[in-house]
Amino acid sequence: MSQVADPVVTRIAGKIAAGERLDAADALALYDSHDLIAIGALADRVNRAKNGDTVTFAANQHINPTNVCVLRTTCTFCGYARLPKEAGAYRYTLDQVLAEAASAADGLTKEFHIVGGLDMKAGLAYYQEMFRALKSNFPHVHIKALTAVEIAHIARIEKMTWRDVLIALREAGLDTMPGGGAETFSAAVREQIAGKKLAGADYIGVHRTAHELGIRTNCTMLYGHVETHQDRVEHLMMLRSLQDETGGFLAYVPLAYHPDDNALGTELHREGTATSGVDDLKMLAVGRLFLDNFRHIKSHWIMVSQPLSQISLHFGVNDLEGTVVREKIYHAVGAHTPQGMTLDGLLELIRGAGKIPAERDSFYNVLRVFDSPAPEPVGA
Ligand code: SF4
Repeated sequence: MSQVADPVVTRIAGKIAAGERLDAADALALYDSHDLIAIGALADRVNRAKNGDTVTFAANQHINPTNVCVLRTTCTFCGYARLPKEAGAYRYTLDQVLAEAASAADGLTKEFHIVGGLDMKAGLAYYQEMFRALKSNFPHVHIKALTAVEIAHIARIEKMTWRDVLIALREAGLDTMPGGGAETFSAAVREQIAGKKLAGADYIGVHRTAHELGIRTNCTMLYGHVETHQDRVEHLMMLRSLQDETGGFLAYVPLAYHPDDNALGTELHREGTATSGVDDLKMLAVGRLFLDNFRHIKSHWIMVSQPLSQISLHFGVNDLEGTVVREKIYHAVGAHTPQGMTLDGLLELIRGAGKIPAERDSFYNVLRVFDSPAPEPVGA
């Protein structure tokens, strides 16, 4: 490893120290640089200035109510979706959703993270009924549900505006929205990996509408497939620009492409070859540096593994995906990580990086800090 930092990174560090905003050329230079350690150190410094040594997580539970999706054949990176009559297709009844949610009865789960396919039979009423029943049975649990792509799908099949769908879902119990469905905004990339999916500008439009209604959201970027560094920069520019406008994003979450069990992986001859650890860390660190108007950068340990997520806590990350119960989507495309992590496991992971674990709510308010050396018993 070189003893001298890449001069490009040194120059960008000077800009940040002077309080100057990074531009697109800076972001491109960071993605192009091989000096991962210098980029990580810079991102760590910026993160510490915002969040200290605290690393947050939410005790959440993923529920994927349907894998039936009209885009089954055109999102070539997806291994989760099925056509309605295809083997393995499912759509939960309300009772099945409630049965899966039942583990939240322990009182520890604070958030349901609900996303699924674009199912013609899962329209507005399906989700309204689901959210009302979840709120009625688990009033203490926050509902973070439906990507921008799902909101646009419901609007289309119900012949409603995005705004009216969001208002109706909020009345039924929707609290915030996850950031999935962004993939990479570039039209050329979308054409290749998700030809019929909601355009990048419309993803931004749905999030803008949500923010105008006071619904906070997350945002993502799927990386490690066919996108270029320039595509990544343009994607980040669009996210930062909306955040300047509304301030409605809670967190940025880069999502690593998994090439197993999907057509794109076969087409690219990439099966069994996931993203590199270097790229995973760089995605997080560059996100931290470029998205100066975001406080929270999250590592999704289900996608990049627990050890890499632990290391990422020194590369600008201040938030980890929580204690996830029964995640299906990334395990359908070859994620080999466990499907859930206990509270003790998460505390050990964060403490092992020399950080202070803190449970947060869905709006990033800290609920309790685990600053004692021994993990507190589950249920305390
Ligand atoms: Fe459907 Fe989403 Fe999979 Fe595309 S990525 S096929 S929209 S479930």
